[in-house]
Amino acid sequence: MRTGKLIVLTGPSGVGKGTLLRSLLQRHPELYLSTSVTTRAPRPGEVNGQHYFFVSRAEFEQMVVEGELLEWAEFAGNCYGTPRRPVEQQINQGRCVLLEIELEGARQIRQTFPEALGIFILPPSMLELEFRIRSRAQDSEDAILRRLARAQSEVDAAHEFDIQVVNDDLDKALGRIEDALFAPTVSR
Ligand code: 5GP
Repeated sequence: MRTGKLIVLTGPSGVGKGTLLRSLLQRHPELYLSTSVTTRAPRPGEVNGQHYFFVSRAEFEQMVVEGELLEWAEFAGNCYGTPRRPVEQQINQGRCVLLEIELEGARQIRQTFPEALGIFILPPSMLELEFRIRSRAQDSEDAILRRLARAQSEVDAAHEFDIQVVNDDLDKALGRIEDALFAPTVSR
């Protein structure tokens, strides 16, 4: 049976993981991006089932209890998790599956799927990260402050992952991710 690969892309909120992923998927439509479940309210323009599956906290808790999530974590007051079944199905079909998740969830995947490739995206500097989070201007000041506090502790954990990519230049960062994804598999 062909078995696909699991790729975990992590890094602080605002570092540009979403932009990197969109470009990566445009260039490699064969990749499968997992759609997470969250209790966070949709931001303007976000579509249910596309950006996230938006659920209530009770529905989320039910999914946790029933073992439907591959990993989950609480982030800035909301819960986020990866639905297990689609990921397992895609991997069993030989596809390369991407998870775009925060640090706690990425650590859980490192435990349960040690063969997963972990990619940590770093900001050019913490000041630049603050600028990016603030200029997104979609979150309340309270949410921004929680995200900034979390960002520093996430950056400190970058070394736990297989590769670290600084997102200062989109093309360069993409190139490094592509190298890691499509390089011949070395036993790890
Ligand atoms: P946002 O609210 O900005 O969309 O996401 C906040 C954080 O949650 C981001 O760092 C994002 O990577 C992370 N996240 C999104 N989906 C998941 C998930 O399924 N599991 C975990 N652990 N984190 C997630």
